[in-house]
Amino acid sequence: MALLVEPAAGDLYLLRDLIWCGLCAVPLVTVQIRPSGTRYYGCPNRPCPRPLVPAEVTEQRAWHRFSFRYDALAHGVPRDRRQAVLGQVLKRVLVGANTTALAFEWRD
Ligand SMILES: [Zn+2]
Repeated sequence: MALLVEPAAGDLYLLRDLIWCGLCAVPLVTVQIRPSGTRYYGCPNRPCPRPLVPAEVTEQRAWHRFSFRYDALAHGVPRDRRQAVLGQVLKRVLVGANTTALAFEWRD
């Protein structure tokens, strides 16, 4: 499988457009808390009971899962190219009521 890797976008959010609320079935939006700069993904649906999803640890888990599944593809990919690589094989990841409950849907 050959991957077409886009130039680095400089986007901090590895899972932008890929991470969805499993309760509301909508894409999560990116949230950054000031002044700490702590990053989250949040559900745009106001009545959603889901807490904010911590971005850093969730992105690490997603990349780990990807690396486990696509060992050769993941090897040596720099941080700023990971979003492009991941987006080509990951359809979406659904977050359950518990923010550590991730369900991955792959394109293959
Ligand atoms: Zn929601």
